[in-house]
Amino acid sequence: MIDYKSTRGHDEIKNSAQAIIQGIAKDKGLFVPRSIPAIEGGIGSLVGRDYKDIAYEVLSRFLSDFSKEDILDAVQKAYDSKFEKDEIVPLIEKGGVHFLELYHGKTSAFKDMALSILPHLLTKSLKKEKENKKIIILTATSGDTGKAALEGFADVENTEIIVYYPVDGVSQVQRMQMITQEGKNTHVVAIKGNFDNAQTGVKNIFSDDVFNKGLNDKGYMLSSANSINIGRLVPQVAYYVYAYAQLIGAGKIKDGESINIVVPTGNFGNILAAYYASHMGVKVHKFICASNKNKVLTDFINTGIYDINRQFYVTNSPSMDILISSNLERLLYHLSDGKEEVIRELMLQLENEKKYEIPDDVKERMKIFAAGFADEQDTIEAIKDLYQRENYLMDTHTAVAYDVYSKYKENTKDDTITIIASTASPYKFSNSVIAALDEEASGTEFELVQQLEKITGIPIPKGLKDLDKKEVLHHRVIEKEDMLKELEKAYL
Ligand SMILES: *Cc1c(COP(=O)(O)O)cnc(C)c1O
Repeated sequence: MIDYKSTRGHDEIKNSAQAIIQGIAKDKGLFVPRSIPAIEGGIGSLVGRDYKDIAYEVLSRFLSDFSKEDILDAVQKAYDSKFEKDEIVPLIEKGGVHFLELYHGKTSAFKDMALSILPHLLTKSLKKEKENKKIIILTATSGDTGKAALEGFADVENTEIIVYYPVDGVSQVQRMQMITQEGKNTHVVAIKGNFDNAQTGVKNIFSDDVFNKGLNDKGYMLSSANSINIGRLVPQVAYYVYAYAQLIGAGKIKDGESINIVVPTGNFGNILAAYYASHMGVKVHKFICASNKNKVLTDFINTGIYDINRQFYVTNSPSMDILISSNLERLLYHLSDGKEEVIRELMLQLENEKKYEIPDDVKERMKIFAAGFADEQDTIEAIKDLYQRENYLMDTHTAVAYDVYSKYKENTKDDTITIIASTASPYKFSNSVIAALDEEASGTEFELVQQLEKITGIPIPKGLKDLDKKEVLHHRVIEKEDMLKELEKAYL
């Protein structure tokens, strides 16, 4: 039985269903498994199995309190024909590395891998724990998470999903993806403010005791769909296990042979999933953490000092524009052998001084991580270079990872077989991607999507096709101060 506890040690031990329902621990820590399970026969025993099978093997070990039927059912419903590739996550060898394409789901970003299954895990958790309240999911988004959460939760029984986005803070494509969302339990609200205002508004609603008590009396409770929820992290472990099994199956490595994993990183969820996969049996030489110009993590991995006293940049890889990477707290917990008092102290320093330094023994253990960053120009050049040499098109986030890996390889001469997590379709960031291929290109975002298809011949993903012609279903724009008031009107 794998159970879960808070990284800060001041919440009760939970089973996985309880941790999924609650989302974040009461002491503001994150739920972590008390031990990380392994695939007992080694990953070699999974060679030849398809994605759903492997997802089942991984999930059933982490969510050991769920029945076999529940996990099978969730996996079946999540990884079906809404993915545009039969393999779900194709592994493509180009330019001397293997791209693990995680973006063939409905919203064309890797968030679909977890958000297509989280709603099913959540509703099954509620049934299992005999919790009969209706769940209201609140999400503040700067673009990708909001749409993936809407798709995941649309028409899921006993849930309402509300997404807040900054009215001028998302791309045209991202806005249209959200405001054309169907499903009678979906709500999309524009905030007159920036992403931080939306995020702060959501946090304030979560911590408003009077409102939460009122909701409770009406049979509702709040929960979260971002990567602080363990139910979003565990499904991400599966694709690293799958990729390793694919490499063994193709004869590129032997079971037990080391690989490198490169991840374009924002909130540290995706790369943490790779770390969990390494405990399951995926042998990893280096986890390579790639950042854009917001390179807090690069500096941290190279010095042991996490310091957010710095300028924030808006870049062409916006889903990685982040200074506080929440899931790093989970890694530090594991690397310090579960010393909660150390984690509490570091997080307190982060809150008060916007900075902390990890102890020497943790620094030593961090050496399994390498790090680097790519600025906007490096990113554009990486896209252009790989497209011209190999006819392979990357989005800006994946290009950050590819550039960081190229520099790593040049510096270290490390020729270990390497996987790059490819996190978005190039069409999702058409403006920047087309600029790398054709400096003259101009037009609206929607026109650029069409032009990119003409240049490359790669079909536009279904969800992005004719997006500008879809009916707008969500019109609400509210003042940032009114978020709570609007909810009170709707639910109390
Ligand atoms: C969310 C996101 C990331 C960052 O992933 P984390 O798990 O937050 O580190 C990278 N690329 C894209 C396209 C994303 O949407």
